[in-house]
Amino acid sequence: MAESSSAVKGATFPATINVFRLVADLRQHRKQLLSSGKTVGLVPTMGALHAGHFALIRQAAQENTNVFVSVYVNPTQFGVNEDLESYPRTWDADIKMLEKLDQEFAASSPQLGRISAVFAPTTKTMYPTLPPSSEVTGQGSFVTITPLGAILEGSSRPVFFRGVATVCMKLFNITTPDKAYFGQKDIQQTIVIKRMVKDFWLDTEVQIAPTVREADGLAMSSRNVYLGKRRRGVALLLSRMLVLAEERYALGMRTRADILGPALELAQSMAAEQFRLPPSIRATFEVIYFSLANPDTLEEVDPVDGNDGAILSGAVKMLPVEEPQPGEDCGLGDGNSPVRLIDNIVLKPPG
Ligand code: AMP
Repeated sequence: MAESSSAVKGATFPATINVFRLVADLRQHRKQLLSSGKTVGLVPTMGALHAGHFALIRQAAQENTNVFVSVYVNPTQFGVNEDLESYPRTWDADIKMLEKLDQEFAASSPQLGRISAVFAPTTKTMYPTLPPSSEVTGQGSFVTITPLGAILEGSSRPVFFRGVATVCMKLFNITTPDKAYFGQKDIQQTIVIKRMVKDFWLDTEVQIAPTVREADGLAMSSRNVYLGKRRRGVALLLSRMLVLAEERYALGMRTRADILGPALELAQSMAAEQFRLPPSIRATFEVIYFSLANPDTLEEVDPVDGNDGAILSGAVKMLPVEEPQPGEDCGLGDGNSPVRLIDNIVLKPPG
């Protein structure tokens, strides 16, 4: 495959994958696919690709003749004090891995779909009219999905889902995908996007792929590179809390107190344990929320309705590393910034 005329500058090797920067070029490619009866699966990403992203791309290749991967760090989903500037950007490595994956798809039997477009627009392309605003009261053309986007993640990140819904609406309009792929890891995002597709009659099927985890259970995330060794160990708390609560549900318990109790106790005892340690070795954290909610509305439930099941989800903020030691691996950014972790488990209705 030849590199597109709108290819991203800065790739330090000859790309064999079609990289599009301009909407018109990508639309032209999309039209050709449509007229030849091909199907498109879109995988929106912010780059810094890892195995979680690759699982989505692989699923898209199993279900479509063509896969489009977008790589765009969307400014409007970052709040004014969030990590937009420092968000990891690994363009060359991303493209190399996408090429490798595509070569694997090309050689596969049965035949998988091909990654026929990587869409890497500039912010001027994505937000043609105004410089995008990250202010809650900012002006602009935005898609707002409430109350879904205002609770849980949205309550501490008030512009987050407005940014996500807006950028996904743009990506869907530009690429008109038959299917769009999202990870269960960001479960509230999947619910917001499904609601947007339903309410705006978008002609795209939303597909959800399971969360990909490290061997010890930590959900993979582009931001994990910031953790460093000390915080990485304690970060396991969140997946352990979810598993503890899931076990209680599997035992037949249905009230919040019964399901969430031991997990919250674990968080408290781990917080106390870290606090007792000297600052030179401890890793402190805050549990931002630990939720047991209805799968469609994300409203908190008590007890869980056996017909609906529930979504268990949580967010933990790993606080900056105190008193870093000489030679200590504190992660990208030297442990100076907090790292927000999110994770979830779906509690299915029995049977
Ligand atoms: P991001 O680049 O973080 O915006 O993520 C792009 C897509 O990859 C989103 O749909 C995420 O939910 C999904 N994703 C991120 N991490 C994982 C993971 N560990 N497992 C499955 N999907 C993931």
